[in-house]
Amino acid sequence: MERTKFILDENEMPTSWYNIAADLPEPLPPERHPATKEPTRLPPPLFAEAINDQEFSTQRYIDIPEEVLSVYRLWRPTPLYRAHRLEKALDTPARIFYKYEGTSPAGSHKPNTAVAQAYYNKKEGIKRLSTETGAGQWGSALALGCMLFGLECKVYMVKVSYYQKPYRRIMMETWGAKVVPSPSMDTEVGRRILKENPDSPGSLGIAISEAIEDAAVHDDTHYSIGSVANHVLLHQTVIGLEAKKQMEKAGYYPDIIVGCIGGGSNFAGMFLPFVKDKIEKRKPGLRIICAEPQAAPSLTKGVHAWDYGDEAGLAPILKMYTLGHTFMPPPVHAGGLRYHGMAPIISHLYKLGFVEARAEYQIPVFEAGIKFARTEGIIPAPEPSHAIKVVIDEANACKQAGQSKTILLTLSGHGNFDMGAFDEYLSGKLQDYEYPAEKVKEALSHLPQVPE
Ligand SMILES: *Cc1c(COP(=O)(O)O)cnc(C)c1O
Repeated sequence: MERTKFILDENEMPTSWYNIAADLPEPLPPERHPATKEPTRLPPPLFAEAINDQEFSTQRYIDIPEEVLSVYRLWRPTPLYRAHRLEKALDTPARIFYKYEGTSPAGSHKPNTAVAQAYYNKKEGIKRLSTETGAGQWGSALALGCMLFGLECKVYMVKVSYYQKPYRRIMMETWGAKVVPSPSMDTEVGRRILKENPDSPGSLGIAISEAIEDAAVHDDTHYSIGSVANHVLLHQTVIGLEAKKQMEKAGYYPDIIVGCIGGGSNFAGMFLPFVKDKIEKRKPGLRIICAEPQAAPSLTKGVHAWDYGDEAGLAPILKMYTLGHTFMPPPVHAGGLRYHGMAPIISHLYKLGFVEARAEYQIPVFEAGIKFARTEGIIPAPEPSHAIKVVIDEANACKQAGQSKTILLTLSGHGNFDMGAFDEYLSGKLQDYEYPAEKVKEALSHLPQVPE
């Protein structure tokens, strides 16, 4: 049997991030100020200068600081596996590879950017970072990053998740972060909402508003974001840069790359170094497939328009595929994919025809995740289980056609904190949500008016 695991030495780890802005066939539309609607940088009191520069840079390779590399080495380079057992179970001639980001201390790809953001803020004299979190994946990554660079971390966690999913909260607290249920009494916004509705379950939009207010009123505090923004996608390109070298060691170049998209950071991190080959016509046949939930299908059902990055309308206005910033996706278990919009970089490449998208229902997604766990051993998070569903479909298509294509999957994190969701599936209680067409239509009527 051919090899199963492809590992890189520490000295083969990339020493710079890849910036797609240098190679886009058409430049990205500008980001716009939420109030004036004019082109803008990121709001200055909220972000470090270095991060602001990276957000708008067109330099092709950006050096990873030595301090960040030394933290990456705690778990990077991450392994790439050949999924021999899954291939066998599917009886497919396809070759399936997966890059596994679940080996980080927080269990996902998110620390790749959390660590970099903590470093740049520390370097510019900031003492504290604030952020929001839903189920806790991003909050735990930032808590880790802050701990490693000696920053305080304040996390506004959506109240329902705070009480229903305590383990990620405890993880954040273990790393020393301060976590409060949002809406909280710690901000103006939170106090106002609690006064009107003491039983408010909270929402990501409210938590974002609280975290932004916190950074705005404290001189020593900046705000930190876990997906969507250009600088976040940039930091995640370590995934694809490593995977490219590992695929070379395996002796194959992928025909199809698959990943899940919430705000788009893990999958862009994987495919951006590969899409460069497609843009430059070296690999014109390469297919890149984004897997999204039927409950929040921004690429397959959304519109390409100007919209706020957050539900509260405080974040910059971005040109992206969106379902409307006021749209609240149904409570599917893949919490990381419940976002109304999509990273401007992915939106742009989708519009230009370099990537495709497919929307999946959660029951077949869990079925695929369980098939993966029962062949490869790793229990995948519900988010990348969407991508596994697409990989299985593609591998079955290869079997039908008698083609041995090479498929590369981004396994963004493990599902060890998602046992409640797996329990629901296994006991037959999991339900599917139809695409909420009416709610999207309503939300799309609230897009900001921006002059082209
Ligand atoms: C947060 C998360 C996602 C979704 O976010 P992206 O920015 O689209 O990557 C996907 N998988 C895991 C494991 C996550 O924690």
